[in-house]
Amino acid sequence: MGLCMGFFVNSGKQWGQFELFVNIWALKLIVRNYGYQDDIYDHIFLSLDIPLFRSSFNFFLYTELSRHFPFPLNTISRFQIPTTHTETHIARPPEFQIFRRKPIRAMISLQTIAKPSPIHFRPKKPFKRPPKTLTPIHSLLQYNRKPQLSGETPRVVVITSGKGGVGKTTTTANIGLSLARLGFSAVAIDADVGLRNLDLLLGLENRVNYTVVEVLNGDCRLDQALVRDKRWSNFELLCISKPRSKLPLGFGGKALIWLVEALKNREEGAPDFILIDCPAGIDAGFITAITPANEAVLVTTPDITSLRDADRVTGLLECDGIRDIKMIVNRVRTDMIKGEDMMSVLDVQEMLGLPLLGVIPEDTEVIRSTNRGYPLVLNKPPALAGLAFEQAAWRLVEQDSMKAVMMEEEPKKRGFFSFFGG
Ligand code: ADP
Ligand code: MG
Repeated sequence: MGLCMGFFVNSGKQWGQFELFVNIWALKLIVRNYGYQDDIYDHIFLSLDIPLFRSSFNFFLYTELSRHFPFPLNTISRFQIPTTHTETHIARPPEFQIFRRKPIRAMISLQTIAKPSPIHFRPKKPFKRPPKTLTPIHSLLQYNRKPQLSGETPRVVVITSGKGGVGKTTTTANIGLSLARLGFSAVAIDADVGLRNLDLLLGLENRVNYTVVEVLNGDCRLDQALVRDKRWSNFELLCISKPRSKLPLGFGGKALIWLVEALKNREEGAPDFILIDCPAGIDAGFITAITPANEAVLVTTPDITSLRDADRVTGLLECDGIRDIKMIVNRVRTDMIKGEDMMSVLDVQEMLGLPLLGVIPEDTEVIRSTNRGYPLVLNKPPALAGLAFEQAAWRLVEQDSMKAVMMEEEPKKRGFFSFFGG
């Protein structure tokens, strides 16, 4: 599904056919210039000046839009343009709704015809128009609603992939901070013991004084090992061990289960989400990381090596009793998909057969934010990949998934000057 941005502005009068077509034409232009992407985003962002809308107009708008862009009904939504001083852009808007007028009831009942009542002549009352109901408008204006948390808390989610370097740590950092921004408390555990780097990505490397190893040895309390993010205080990081230090011999799944239990029983209450950043591979570190999890996010890139590993990991997760597995397809490049040099998201989904949590485009901003230790989702204005991570976090909260849709591109029309080589 293409990422489309259409800005519909109502200039004070109700729209006629002409304005509508001009706007749809403008939307098409924006979409084309933006690089029409096959299956990246499932949302069309519209900014609508609603108070002047009529209910039938919404219906008309939808039918017109769907004629030009064949997306399913529930994918049209309202989006507030991010401004520099507000945080509103993090909220996913509600699904666009169509409001129909109520059917007009028959005014004459049969009883009146059978038994006519005596006619009274009353002075005519001045005709008053009934006040317009604003319910549909109100429901449209709830663009800033919070996602509804589904499932039992704390939700223990392991972020895994099999292959290394596909973006597990990037996903953990960005989804964790997105969750915090959406108002949920989250603890990210860096279970990649040998090559820990979640602290670097979050820019918290200087603040990790204690780790889980010290907690287990009884050298410190659990809340001393938890590093609270200064930007979003409901996000905390927990590292298993110091870099280049040896893990205690018995460290395994049981220790991690104990840790999750300890987080659940904290004085200040259990967090809503516990995210576990899993190491690459499928050996002991992997088994340890998945042990306490109830659900998994499988990160993959659209290449065969990563897909084969993802498939193997899916099998192992299912053996471990984790049934709720969703996937994130990372580093997607539409230009390569168009040139048939890269698998499309639809192909990936067909191969793995997992519900899709999000599609993250390849974005140079990701690398920049990695090196700055400033997660992408905090960027203003938001980068493409940042928006995609936010949408994925939203779906994670609501246990929702998205659909990958393949779109046929219209063949290019030859212009008048094509004859001269234009
Ligand atoms: P993993 O934890 O799976 O080993 P990382 O999250 O550390 O992978 O990511 C590996 C590298 O890939 C990082 O340098 C990161 O900047 C880069 N990367 C991840 N996702 C993207 C993306 N969508 N676009 C561009 N670079 C990315
Ligand atoms: Mg990693």
